[in-house]
Amino acid sequence: MIDATFHDWPLPYVDQLELRDRDAITLVVIHCTELPDLATAREYGERVLYTESSTGNSGHFYIDRNGRVHEFVPVTRVANHTRGYNRQSVGIELVNRGRYPNWFDSRHQQMTEPYTAEQISALRGLLSQLTSALPRLAYIAGHEALDSAEISASDDASKRVFRKRDPGPMFPWTDVLAGLTLAPLPTDTE
Ligand SMILES: [Zn+2]
Repeated sequence: MIDATFHDWPLPYVDQLELRDRDAITLVVIHCTELPDLATAREYGERVLYTESSTGNSGHFYIDRNGRVHEFVPVTRVANHTRGYNRQSVGIELVNRGRYPNWFDSRHQQMTEPYTAEQISALRGLLSQLTSALPRLAYIAGHEALDSAEISASDDASKRVFRKRDPGPMFPWTDVLAGLTLAPLPTDTE
């Protein structure tokens, strides 16, 4: 565990996730759960989606609206949170409704729930601890910047919506990054 004040709450399949060295980690990816609460996010995280390995999708850390940090996966294991970037990254999930429950409805693409001051403060603390603990950690990105795939809207197949929008426009990047050494990951523009 990174910090004794965190809630150590490993997912049931955590031992099946691939081990890695700490110096393989160069990137933090910021997500929001797009779910109503932490309990629901836990249910989603526990779901087995990959039958061969008996694992599923989750971040490493979950930050609830009250600022409590819950560790679902140790950073020394690869979690499935961002297509194509899992091996080199730590995934941090903030509890926030996002587009829930109409994620792919073309009429419901706004993300309107603000992140709480407690969440942002806890996130900054966690980022600073990760920077100290992980020697090659240098970059940070939002999930939306790393996965720009579009899919057909659930209400109208002729419309396209983004599969991932998190953490979205409510996320206060400037406040989060102030004084930290992490740099935005350079990404290809399309
Ligand atoms: Zn995400």
